Amino acid sequence: MSYVITPPTPASVPVSGGGEFPVHRIYCVGRNYADHAVEMGFSGREPPFFFMKPADAVLPVAEGQTGLMAYPPLTTNLHHEIELVVAIGRGGAGIQAADAPGHIWGYAVGLDMTRRDLQNEMKKQGRPWSIGKGFDQSAPIGPLVPLARTGELLKGAITLAVNGVVKQKGDLAELIWSVNETIEQLSAAWTLQPGDLIFTGTPSGVGAVVRGDLMEGAIAGLGSLKVAVR
Ligand code: MN
Repeated sequence: MSYVITPPTPASVPVSGGGEFPVHRIYCVGRNYADHAVEMGFSGREPPFFFMKPADAVLPVAEGQTGLMAYPPLTTNLHHEIELVVAIGRGGAGIQAADAPGHIWGYAVGLDMTRRDLQNEMKKQGRPWSIGKGFDQSAPIGPLVPLARTGELLKGAITLAVNGVVKQKGDLAELIWSVNETIEQLSAAWTLQPGDLIFTGTPSGVGAVVRGDLMEGAIAGLGSLKVAVR
């Protein structure tokens, strides 16, 4: 193949214990914890819906490191959303929830960073959310932990602290649509591919960060993700 420009290096995230996981697509589930749906003005009983971020929106953070996220342009209301991220190792379409675990490679702690002011403006105008959700470095993510090591993550604390103060606190058991149901719904709409990441939604307590803040997210069984905003 003779490319007419240099092809970009594939985006990737580190794997706990070594190696890199190449990123194909980033899918995100909206409003997947009832208390967050309610804080955003919804009942919590709506069917799942999806949006995407570009693969190279990842901000990979290696084990034991603190990621550095540049405060993005055009916003004065940058929000944190702590989320369980699921990495797809085996692709497929029309995957049944019962078969979903066989498609999961592993898990990571991730942040669905959001320019909330821009997202809200787009919502109000009925326009796409991309500018609010899919900007550069909008997906900080810690090392992937293989499912072979964690087993299926069905419950456990998910938390986010800013400067040592806990802002978000939930449990994976509170997901409205479980990881397996999410994979069933997603794979009905898109053919999942090895390398796909799924951000599975955030518990309540989302809020703004500013330059100089330190975010520390944690999920039971996966360790922590530290990201400084500068
Ligand atoms: Mn989110």
